[in-house]
Amino acid sequence: MMNVTVVGAGTMGNGIAHVFAMKGFSVTLVDISASALDKALETIQRNLDRMLKKQIISDEEKTQTLQRIQTTTLLEEGVKSAQLVVEAATENFDIKARIFETIDRHAPSQAILATNTSSISITKIAAVTKRPQQVIGMHFMNPVPVMKLVEIINGWRTEASVTERIVSITKELGKTPVVVNDYPGFVANRILMPMINEAVYALYEGVAGVEEIDTVMKLGMNHPMGPLHLADFIGLDVCLAILNVLHEGLGNPKYAPCPLLIKMVDAGHLGVKTGRGFYDYSEGIKHPRVAPEFRR
Ligand code: NAD
Repeated sequence: MMNVTVVGAGTMGNGIAHVFAMKGFSVTLVDISASALDKALETIQRNLDRMLKKQIISDEEKTQTLQRIQTTTLLEEGVKSAQLVVEAATENFDIKARIFETIDRHAPSQAILATNTSSISITKIAAVTKRPQQVIGMHFMNPVPVMKLVEIINGWRTEASVTERIVSITKELGKTPVVVNDYPGFVANRILMPMINEAVYALYEGVAGVEEIDTVMKLGMNHPMGPLHLADFIGLDVCLAILNVLHEGLGNPKYAPCPLLIKMVDAGHLGVKTGRGFYDYSEGIKHPRVAPEFRR
């Protein structure tokens, strides 16, 4: 079976390792932090237990999936027999550049190097390697075991055969690939983030309250979650960072982040992960209440 190395064992990395292992790939999960690796294995086990309970997988499939995952804190070791590397480390160009230089030196020359970045240029990441034609974006959605889409991003020099291979692997994972080109935000965030930003503007300008804005989009547009609630889940700092990438990369003032979003990030109200964003999660994420400053 194909050897896949997943670099970064956080929110996305554990999900990516989970789906590859469940579909029979042999997975090496790498992180600089040993405790992140322990936590990732616990999360994978918990998510597999949930699938077992819902009878999506059998007991044997669960055991086999776990057996297919090994972990290491040594990147050089972890990629040495990889046929595909999927990088899902922290969203920071310098960190990713260092990781790709190392992977490029130690992974077999024919290995494909993919990145799960949400907003960094694939072309720029590819350029730090000696194999830019084998570098591609493989943008999974959160939570990875549940979400069907994988946005596949061709860098400036990605070869067609590499794209075809990644499309076919994505299908083997039971996911739907969509191939796009490498421009800021790709397609998913190019459209999602301006929508979230516009929702924040509607709140900022007093057009409507938090629940009203979210209810209009939920019931009126059939979105499963309102844009402000979704922004809280993504993290307001992450939304702000992606809007800045769109704004700088496309040079169009329409992408400028709303001052209210900037202020909330400055205040440390980042959404679910800090317990407060547009909603207050002090009673748990299942019982969000509009944050006190936005109550009418
Ligand atoms: P995270 O912070 O949960 O996890 C990142 C992990 O990378 C951490 O465990 C960290 O220890 C590890 N790491 C940092 N430097 C490393 C290095 N040099 N070598 C190995 N591991 C290293 O982040 P995340 O939310 O899982 O995001 C990972 C990537 O996925 C980012 O590029 C992000 O933009 C992208 N992404 C995130 C989401 C999301 O909803 N969270 C969705 C799509 C894409």
